[in-house]
Amino acid sequence: MTENLDYYRTVVIGSGFGGAVAATTLVESGEQVLLLERGPWRDSESVRDAGIQRRASLPVGRKAINHLVHRVSFPGLMGKGKRLSTRGLFDIHFGNEMSVVCSSGVGGGSHVYSAMNMRPHDPDYWDDKVQGVSSKAMETHYAWMLECMEAKVPNAEAKIPNWTPEAYEDSKEFVADADVPQPAMSVRMDGQQEDYCNNSYFGSANGAKATLDRVLILPAMKKGLQVEPEQECLSLWALPEGGYRLEVMDYRLKRRRYLKAGKVIVAAGTLNTLRLLFHSREIGGLRGMPALGQGFSGNGDSVAWWALNEKGADFSLGTPTHGRFALRDPDTGKAIPGPYITRFGLNGVNTLPLPEPLKARLRRDAIIVGMGKDNANGVALWKRGRLKFRYIMESNGILSDIQELFSEIAHRSRKPVRFLKHKPFTVHPLGGARLAPNEEEGVVGSTGEVYGLPGLYIADASALPASPGTPPSMTVAAWARHLALGIAGKKKRGTPRSKQIKD
Ligand SMILES: Cc1cc2nc3c(=O)[nH]c(=O)nc-3n(C[C@H](O)[C@H](O)[C@H](O)COP(=O)(O)OP(=O)(O)OC[C@H]3O[C@@H](n4cnc5c(N)ncnc54)[C@H](O)[C@@H]3O)c2cc1C
Repeated sequence: MTENLDYYRTVVIGSGFGGAVAATTLVESGEQVLLLERGPWRDSESVRDAGIQRRASLPVGRKAINHLVHRVSFPGLMGKGKRLSTRGLFDIHFGNEMSVVCSSGVGGGSHVYSAMNMRPHDPDYWDDKVQGVSSKAMETHYAWMLECMEAKVPNAEAKIPNWTPEAYEDSKEFVADADVPQPAMSVRMDGQQEDYCNNSYFGSANGAKATLDRVLILPAMKKGLQVEPEQECLSLWALPEGGYRLEVMDYRLKRRRYLKAGKVIVAAGTLNTLRLLFHSREIGGLRGMPALGQGFSGNGDSVAWWALNEKGADFSLGTPTHGRFALRDPDTGKAIPGPYITRFGLNGVNTLPLPEPLKARLRRDAIIVGMGKDNANGVALWKRGRLKFRYIMESNGILSDIQELFSEIAHRSRKPVRFLKHKPFTVHPLGGARLAPNEEEGVVGSTGEVYGLPGLYIADASALPASPGTPPSMTVAAWARHLALGIAGKKKRGTPRSKQIKD
């Protein structure tokens, strides 16, 4: 049944931080890799320059109508939810205990992310998880990725509109001085005002934000990386002779196809990797993984609308985030230590097809995002073909700490800060297929290989062993780099013949 299928040595599923890093690292080491991505190439400067003809617009103007949302799921809706458009940028998963937003397209989350690139809150994040992984060894991978992403902390010459260190310089209530270190960001900051608008959650058409298609994927294609967009992997089957059979939906030809791979690296992002693994196990394609779903985390994310309605302000301008800030202690004038909070405007609102008075109002308001280390004690469950998250807010105190901070910000600014108190929502879902010393506690071991399923690896945020408490993309990238270098090293050292799969 599988003899006549196209065979690939290594297939990577998903082209976000995990998939792009794993695929390009393997190609650098001489491995043949096929990268499957369910979303399209996005219409950005670098993709156009590379001569890629079939590109999907970013959600700009009227195009936003069918380019904004890819898939939406909510309680009561069966399966993966309702696909609104294969060209849509966002997946929105509404859940009773946790809602999740992620994205679709070649380059994954890099198109919609706010370009804050950080190491975990704890410098020893990777220590004492499993043998063979340490914070010291991972540091090389963080440094490599930060360099790839051209990440830097802004300075005063950058003249960034709405930058919190300047905005709060004379504020009695808030502070963003040297005691509140700013994140490194992957955006052009040489003072060009056109780079300080429309370069954030809705993508970066002019390339001012560094995205993975530009920095990793297109260069790796010149070295042999094969990228197939608009291909969604629907299920995985472990083959008796070794390797895997993949069932793939080809949205270009609107038909299913099947292929065979020696190694499969799953990097479809937490939500979709968990769906793929649960579904494949349910239909008998995969076995084992007793701890699948354990250790889910929302990274302490809390989002609030700050209805500043400040006359003359345009908070949609600036870098994707305006920067971190903290409450100012009235006695000492210094920052009060507390959770990590950043201010944002609705960067990109100008490109949306909304009535002008509404856009004008949205430009005068801000968004506050808080995050921190939660206990990663949520559970992803698979019930009747649907993914659900069990997440108990009360056992993750970071969320109430941040909500208290939101209330204090409202009090001090005398402006409403609105948030959903009992409905956590995250753009940083992680865990569920986590790294752990054994299969009772996690899904993957120190090499990223799934326990009991040789040749199947998990390279994305679902494999993270704990909440980093800071924006996680660099931690995902460091993990994927570790995993891919491990595979490349194993290949160099030579795999025993008995474990090789016939080409
Ligand atoms: C609005 C927003 C702002 C953010 N800001 C930041 C920030 O400033 N800093 C930060 O560090 N993080 C940020 N993040 C989070 C960051 O984007 C994620 O942590 C990161 O992208 C996770 O990487 P990943 O590889 O796990 O998944 P992703 O980057 O989501 O990549 C997964 C890819 O797999 C594809 N895929 C899914 N299913 C399949 C399938 N079955 N077959 C083939 N392909 C598939 C998807 O289309 C996607 O392209 C933000 C996220 C959002 C939504």
